[in-house]
Amino acid sequence: MSGFHVALLVQKFGGSSLATSERIRIVAERIHDSLSQGDRVALVVSAMGDTTDDLIAAAQRLASRPNSRELDFLLSTGELVSAALTSMALHELGRDAVALSGPQAGIRTNGRYGRARITEIEPTRIRAELEAGRVPVMAGFQGLGPGGDIVTLARGTSDTSAVALAVALGVDRCEIYTDVDGIFTADPRIVPDARKLDLVIYDEMLEMAKLGARVMHPRAVEIAEHFGMPVVVRSSFSDAPGTEIVAESAVPIETMQRVRAVAHDTDVARVTIRGVSDRPGLAHALFQPLADRHINIDVIVQNVSDGGVTDLSFTIAETDLDATLDLIRPVAAEIGARDVAASTELGKVSIVGVGIQSTPGIASRMFGALAADGINIVSITTSEIRLTCLVDKAQVARATELLHDEFDLSAADAV
Ligand code: ASP
Ligand code: MG
Repeated sequence: MSGFHVALLVQKFGGSSLATSERIRIVAERIHDSLSQGDRVALVVSAMGDTTDDLIAAAQRLASRPNSRELDFLLSTGELVSAALTSMALHELGRDAVALSGPQAGIRTNGRYGRARITEIEPTRIRAELEAGRVPVMAGFQGLGPGGDIVTLARGTSDTSAVALAVALGVDRCEIYTDVDGIFTADPRIVPDARKLDLVIYDEMLEMAKLGARVMHPRAVEIAEHFGMPVVVRSSFSDAPGTEIVAESAVPIETMQRVRAVAHDTDVARVTIRGVSDRPGLAHALFQPLADRHINIDVIVQNVSDGGVTDLSFTIAETDLDATLDLIRPVAAEIGARDVAASTELGKVSIVGVGIQSTPGIASRMFGALAADGINIVSITTSEIRLTCLVDKAQVARATELLHDEFDLSAADAV
């Protein structure tokens, strides 16, 4: 840090970083060090460890379909506990800290239980605490609905709270602390020589987040990109500098590898609707109910129609399969489709990089590397900066390794 600039930061600590009292103590020491360097910090915390899952399970033991208002009320407590304990751990180190709920911190939402969206942040209280030299510790993943109730945002969105707060405060950067050293070229549990990336472009991070790199929620990346907020993903437990997520204009694209990372996802199910008559409006009729329930549809394939009848298949997260079948079966029957089949035997492997769009031959290298090892590609989808192949679930790990090798991702960028 040059000159006398005092950085104003938002630091977010995830559930694994706060899973035990001991970890909260370590996190508090780390924050204490940042403050000692002169930085001013506002904190955002997630619930400890698996608390949110445990609270959902507790609700389900008592109610088959827990009331959504009460469920949000319950889930909001996870982050409140973390905020209170983190604040107390800071007091113990002689720091003045103040725990705040989302509503107290000025997070306003549209009020949709379980999947609220932030509509506005009124950071007066947080600013006042910072001015007074205190460390605000805000509970992530929650805000106030228009009716005055506490509501939660979608699962895994306390980093969305952090990025949104960072934007509202106009801070220098938003740091996301987690249990890994940053963003890797592939999941190190599958590819041992996966390399930590120093820089990732917003759009690449967005693709990776959508593909299931659980370090950041896609919504958080979208907000960061939209407002140009620099984000750093780093470990709570090491001094490694982490991964910076930045705009394309901020990186030396020309010397960077074209393909930046290989992502995989085994939480995939495929639904096939067979014998759909080929006329306008049917895809809409099938997908609208899924959209209404916020079920994310991924790889969609409609076969060439044969005698006016076609098969339509799409993938979803396996965790959404039951809900999807419940919604799709009646519609399929109504439109006279022959039947609906489901498979959970598939997985996805994707390559991601902004260089993909401008480099011919990448797709054929990807397909060639998979073919050379006898891996069958069930279907293919693309975006400008991503290529995804659906393959047999049992071959996903192997495919990930092969592609990591093919694109030489363990080698550093030629800076
Ligand atoms: N505790 C919430 C969840 O588990 C939010 C988060 O961790 O980001 O979904
Ligand atoms: Mg969590």
